Amino acid sequence: MKRYIYADNAATTKLDTEAFEAMLPWLIENYGNASQPYFFGKKAAHAIKEARQTIAGCINADPDNIFFTSGGTESDNWAIKCFGVSPTDAKVIVVSAIEHHAILHACKNQPNATVTYLPVDKDGIVRGEDIVMAFDHSNHPACSRTSYLTSIMMANNEIGTIMPIKDLAAIAHENGSVFHTDAVQAVGHIPIDVKGLGIDMLSASAHKFNGPKGIGFFYDSGKHVYPHNDGGAQEFGMRAGTENVAGIVGMAVALKNNCANLESNMKYIMSLEDYFMDLMEHSGVDFIRNGGRNHIPGNINLSFRNADGEAILHRLDLKGICISTGSACDSVNTQISHVIRAIGVPQEYANGTIRISLGKYNTLDDCDSIVEALVKILSLSKK
Ligand code: PLP
Repeated sequence: MKRYIYADNAATTKLDTEAFEAMLPWLIENYGNASQPYFFGKKAAHAIKEARQTIAGCINADPDNIFFTSGGTESDNWAIKCFGVSPTDAKVIVVSAIEHHAILHACKNQPNATVTYLPVDKDGIVRGEDIVMAFDHSNHPACSRTSYLTSIMMANNEIGTIMPIKDLAAIAHENGSVFHTDAVQAVGHIPIDVKGLGIDMLSASAHKFNGPKGIGFFYDSGKHVYPHNDGGAQEFGMRAGTENVAGIVGMAVALKNNCANLESNMKYIMSLEDYFMDLMEHSGVDFIRNGGRNHIPGNINLSFRNADGEAILHRLDLKGICISTGSACDSVNTQISHVIRAIGVPQEYANGTIRISLGKYNTLDDCDSIVEALVKILSLSKK
C-alpha cells in the first residue's frame, strides 16, 4: 500500500479504534429502534442516554441540553435559522466575518433578520467593542418581539485562532444577546466548560475529534431555538428522526477518550508543531504564519510569497502528503478565502496560503517529510 502522510486533521480525523468497536454492536446485533418500548429498543435508548451523559460531562453541560444532530453544519444552521421564539419574529444577528460558511450562508436571506458581520484583527480575533457597537439599539428600532443573537466561533478552522469566548459571551449578554459558538474545531482539542464560559448554545461535530462522520451535537442551555425537524418526539421533541445509535455511541467514546487525554494530546501536538516551525524557520523559504499565538494545537497556516497554494497542495498530493488550502470544506472555491482576506494577509503572500493541521497520530518523521517536500516544491517553482 502507498505510504501517505495525513496532515489535514482540521478537515477530518481518523476514527478512534475504540469508538469504532463500540459502534459495531449497534449496527449488527442491537439494531432496534430506540423509540420502541420493547427490550430491543430500550437497550438502544439506554445507550443514547449514556452517550448523552458522557458528552455533557466532557463540556460541563446538563445532559438534557445536548441534542444529537448530523454534524457541525446542521448544528450551526439550527442555531442561526431556528433562533428565537417563532420564525415570524424579528432577529438581530451578529457574527464574525471569519465564521465557517455553515454560519455565514445560514445568515443569508433570513426573513426578518438584520445581520452584522464583525471585522477581526490581524490574528483573527473579534474585538468586544465591535459587538457593543453592533448592538447599539439606535441602529435597531425597538420591538418587543425582537431576539438578539451573537455567534462567534470558538476556534477558526483555517488559522486555528482561539477567540476569547468568555469575554465575548459576557459582552453579548450585557447587550441583551444570546451567545452561540461554533466549537467544531475546539471540542475534544481544548478544555471547554460551557457554564464557566457563559455559552448559551454550541455546535460540535464528531469527525473532528476522532469520532464517526455524519453525527454531531448541539448544546442549548435553555430553549433558545425552536425545533429543527418536525415529526417524531426524538431529542425531546426538538429534532425528529430515528436516532443514529451507532454514531451517537461512537461519538461519545471518541470524545471521552480525547478529553481523558486532552493535556497530553495538546502537549504532544504542540511539540510536533514547534518542531515543524523550527524546520520551516531554518529552511530559507519566504513565508508568513497566520493566526494568533493562542491557537488550536497543530494548526499551521502558512502563506508563501509569490506562490500558488493550490499548486502546492497538488504537488504535495503527488508525494502522498494531504494538506489543504484555505477552507477544507470549500475545495471547489480556489479564490483567496474570506478568512485570509479578513486578517489582511498581504496580496503577494495571500495566494500562496496552505493549512497543515497535525493531529495526535502524526509523528516527527511526518514533519521532516512535509517540510522537505515543501522546500523542494517551493524552490523548484522559483526556477
Ligand atoms: N464549523 C467549522 C468551524 C468547521 O470547521 C466545520 C467543518 O470543517 C463545520 C462547521 C462543518 O462541520 P461538519 O463537517 O460536521 O458539517
